[in-house]
Amino acid sequence: VDHTHADAVVAISNTPDGEAAIRRIYGDRVLVVPYVMPGFVLARTIHELTRNLDWSRYEGMVLLHHGVFTFADDAHTSYERMIRLVGEAEAYLRDKGIFELPVSPEPAREDLLTLARLRRAVGRQLGAPVLARLNASPEAVSFSRHASAPEAARRGPVTPDHAIQTKPFPLLVHGDVEQDVEGFAGAYRDYFVRHTDGHLTCLDTAPRWAVWPDHGVVAFGTTAKRAGIVTDIARHTLRAVQWGEALGGWTALPEADLFAVEYWELEQAKLKLGGSKPAPLEGKIALVTGAASGIGRACAERLRAQGAAVVALDLNAKVETLFTGADALGVTCDVTDRGALEAAVAAAVRTFGGLDILVTNAGIFPGGKAIAELDDATWNQSLEVNLTSHLALLRACVPYLELGFDPAIVVIASKNVPAPGPGQAAYSAAKAGLTQLARVAALELGPKGVRVNVLHPNAVFDTGIWSEDVLADRARRYGMSVEQYKANNVLGVSITARDVAEMACAMAGPLFAKTTGAQVPIDGGNERVI
Ligand code: NAD
Repeated sequence: VDHTHADAVVAISNTPDGEAAIRRIYGDRVLVVPYVMPGFVLARTIHELTRNLDWSRYEGMVLLHHGVFTFADDAHTSYERMIRLVGEAEAYLRDKGIFELPVSPEPAREDLLTLARLRRAVGRQLGAPVLARLNASPEAVSFSRHASAPEAARRGPVTPDHAIQTKPFPLLVHGDVEQDVEGFAGAYRDYFVRHTDGHLTCLDTAPRWAVWPDHGVVAFGTTAKRAGIVTDIARHTLRAVQWGEALGGWTALPEADLFAVEYWELEQAKLKLGGSKPAPLEGKIALVTGAASGIGRACAERLRAQGAAVVALDLNAKVETLFTGADALGVTCDVTDRGALEAAVAAAVRTFGGLDILVTNAGIFPGGKAIAELDDATWNQSLEVNLTSHLALLRACVPYLELGFDPAIVVIASKNVPAPGPGQAAYSAAKAGLTQLARVAALELGPKGVRVNVLHPNAVFDTGIWSEDVLADRARRYGMSVEQYKANNVLGVSITARDVAEMACAMAGPLFAKTTGAQVPIDGGNERVI
């Protein structure tokens, strides 16, 4: 037995002439079943409809407003029948000249700040941060510009099952996104009140997807997986609705039927169980620089492991293969190149809808040189990478962070700030400047709700800065073994990139919700610092 919700078949059935059209297409080769609620009621209806039926006469069943079944004695035949039945529905749309949907040649308009505001409004309505996945493909943008289809989509989904994931209707963005989201919540509450029996619990009132004229379609979800499901459903919905409109008007099921599925007893039971506890940074969006190696890589990996969607930047193109998947984006970017940096921040917002966490980490450690020998090039390069690029990054990110959820900036400075070493003028001066920049940022951004805290790592050996040779050489000079040298601090512990990353996650999360402008060492205790 095969079962699909094939777009063409369901779209045809969701029109005024739907049932008659389905019968014309398939003749008596399929059994046409009027809509009933999926589950036991449907099973019983089929049982009663088919009690005295010769099954061998049929290739399949069309469940109006729901989908298609095919069956046969072997899987391959059943599969072929499915392909054939769906193909016939598509041919019907081709004959009508409507299968290929119009695509407007003008590209989408882009407005990333409004996207971030939309994301914030939806997340606030939900009570949790969400990812906002923008689909600005030519198909989605054409749909958003269609004269009637966006309004038509408000009449209901392709099939009621979709309502569980998408709610019965999308948000239509008209102007002020905060007001639009409020309007959606009001409409959803009214829908609930119209249909509740008085014992049901109203689900949250946040939209799951939005039609944004001229920009495309946006899917929301607390995880990349959920947002991906909604993206997929929306992509199918926008085709089906346009076909429905071309066939005389999209005619979804009556609201009461949608409500019955969305508020199905078993779905409500799941709510009462409360579901599993979300990951600590679920729905958050983080950007990390210098993420192809060492501390930056560990930060990006740990933020991701804690549920955040991560945008990882590095000079080294390896970052693009290290961070792939629905919840990660690796971008090759030299942070000292202003244009590339701004483009990478824009890519982050375009991909996930906003920004909540920034770990500004990329840095270089110029070889030791006494001031008398310190050349301008070394000095300038250290200042450019270790200080000025961080300012450029803050400038590009702050407008989005201000629209984020409990937004936080974590600055990776160095033990060299409180305890500089001889021969490290270029590095220590840049890191001290970076720390001062972070302190000013804490003052400026605090009133806007953005926290800025600084980490001072020391002697983190599993990083690119410390090669095995450098390490062995240093240990020898101090008359220690490598292991002794690694743990040469008050606590006698060695510090790993992962340790620093866990601290960065803590600073980005609720533990540090009421702390800003702090400088925290992660060095096992350094006598000079203490
Ligand atoms: P690392 O060399 O392993 O990682 C640094 C990463 O930054 C590399 O992937 C590199 O490609 C990237 N990078 C360098 N310049 C860049 C640029 N212009 N644009 C984009 N990416 C660039 O070193 P790490 O130890 O993980 O260093 C991370 C940060 O931690 C640095 O700011 C460093 O100063 C700081 N830090 C490290 C230690 C330590 O002991 N490892 C101690 C104190 C502070």
